[in-house]
Amino acid sequence: MRLRNVVLVLGDQLTTDSAAFDAFDPSCDAVWMVEVPEEATHVPSHKARIALFLAAMRHFRDALRQAGRTVYYRQLDDPANRGSFAAELAEFVQTHRPARLLVVEPGEYRVEQALRQTAARCQVPLEVRPDRHFLCSDQQFRQFAKGRKQLLLEHFYRHLRKQHRVLMDGDKPVGGSWNYDAANRKSFGRAGPPAVSPPRRFLPDQTTRQVLELVQQRFPDHPGQLTHFDWPVTAAQAEEALQEFVTHRLAHFGPYQDAMWTDQPYLYHSRLSAAMNLHLLDPRRVIGAVEAAYRAGTVPLASAEGFIRQVLGWREYIRGIYRLHMPDYAHSNHLDARQPLPAFYWTADTPMNCLRQAIGQTLDYGYAHHIQRLMVTGLYALLLGVAPRQIHEWYLAVYVDAVEWVEMPNVLGMSQFADGGLMSSKPYIASGKYIQKMSNYCRGCAYDPQQATGPKACPFTTLYWDFLMRHEPMLAANPRTLMQVRNLQRLSPSQRQAIREQAQRLRPLPLVDDASGGGGYGDMGGGVARAD
Ligand code: FAD
Ligand code: SF4
Repeated sequence: MRLRNVVLVLGDQLTTDSAAFDAFDPSCDAVWMVEVPEEATHVPSHKARIALFLAAMRHFRDALRQAGRTVYYRQLDDPANRGSFAAELAEFVQTHRPARLLVVEPGEYRVEQALRQTAARCQVPLEVRPDRHFLCSDQQFRQFAKGRKQLLLEHFYRHLRKQHRVLMDGDKPVGGSWNYDAANRKSFGRAGPPAVSPPRRFLPDQTTRQVLELVQQRFPDHPGQLTHFDWPVTAAQAEEALQEFVTHRLAHFGPYQDAMWTDQPYLYHSRLSAAMNLHLLDPRRVIGAVEAAYRAGTVPLASAEGFIRQVLGWREYIRGIYRLHMPDYAHSNHLDARQPLPAFYWTADTPMNCLRQAIGQTLDYGYAHHIQRLMVTGLYALLLGVAPRQIHEWYLAVYVDAVEWVEMPNVLGMSQFADGGLMSSKPYIASGKYIQKMSNYCRGCAYDPQQATGPKACPFTTLYWDFLMRHEPMLAANPRTLMQVRNLQRLSPSQRQAIREQAQRLRPLPLVDDASGGGGYGDMGGGVARAD
């Protein structure tokens, strides 16, 4: 019998709640899933990122088959593997001649284009259905964005809180305030973090172990390592991870969400982004569990609100930006940044302790928390002036939760100000003193965050002042950065000159074309921005 509908399930769409499964009839419909090398190599993916996708896909495939669904599945190690979605899909359509292909909106513009073009070439109808994993549809986001020059999170978030009745008392926010950010920016002080309950670990079962071996053997030169692999790879494990977080760590999440500490990669963070991004975990379920814990009196409001703001607010908002502004968004470079990405981003081999910590744990675990991404690795790239494309490709490669819809606006918009302020009203800039306040990294560093020039000058502090000088007119015209420019104006011409020279020494390599990708991976001999 001829196949009727074939549901294309991509590696970040691992749920049967998806619209592509609506009216699925096992007697005439089937599922298509493929593991293709192109997805691991178009940026040089961290080994743990590749392994997480493949392990979760194989578990999902097995669950579908157990439920009686036909799954056409191509493994990476199949000698017949054609290498890309486009080639695999074309071959499948020619062989099986399905009447129609169904897919939900892919998380990456490039993939959606590849599927559409292949279907058109093979003359098979492809229906792309809305992704209802997300609470905000494309249409709703377009409505929100209409007529606004700047798309600020706060308006969007409050609207979703009201619409979905999250943390509301009637038409008022619970507790009387929409925002508890002021209570949520604590550092640990000299004593360090209060006792941390470590996240639940999911040790690899046989399916995952086979994937780990395959990845190690197939991608030995890719960044990162697999030794610590313990991510949830099924919906049931993701649910356990959620319960563990809400019970043991959520209460401390709020106040300490911006804090960092040596050798503590997770602190009070949830580690749920990867499970949500693969759709093993529904954001409504996460928001509901967190609100329920607050209503039961087990976590403070500031922690519950702070966490819900991330999932209901930031996560939905970031996706809206991506879908509204692609494909042009990928070429954003408002600050005309053209420095190559320093090679130490791929090795953690740098004397700057904060970067060594943030990048080191990224290579070890495929994870860094938000402030490490924004105010350590992102900040250094912004201040140095790294070409947005290169830093974007690095983030897309090295985090287990990286899918382009969420990675790209966070990098180009929030962290690099490459979109010229579409998302944030000012660039997130700070000197080394911010890192000193929020962590203990500076205590173990060869540099001094108070100094901008001289042999012990902290590169962040040097580059901060240099950034203010390089972008002085733009920052002076913005009321939110005017104060920083006023401080700059207190510097004498000779102090300015000394900072400029010191900053230039941190940029030893020639400029790159702002469209150039690659970021020096595989060519790690040059460009290590050592300050000594
Ligand atoms: P928690 O700190 O426990 O936060 C809870 C949840 O809120 C996260 O799981 C995530 O789903 C959501 N969330 C928080 N902040 C954001 C945000 N800014 N955008 C979207 N969702 C958010 N997140 C990704 O999922 N994938 C990425 O590739 C990614 N790249 C980033 C790159 C940069 C430069 C920056 C600044 C942020 C990036 N983020 C990304 C957002 C955020 O850093 C991660 O979601 C978070 O660190 C994941 O860890 P967690 O699950 O422990 O999060
Ligand atoms: Fe980072 Fe500067 Fe602190 Fe060293 S002194 S850890 S480079 S902020």
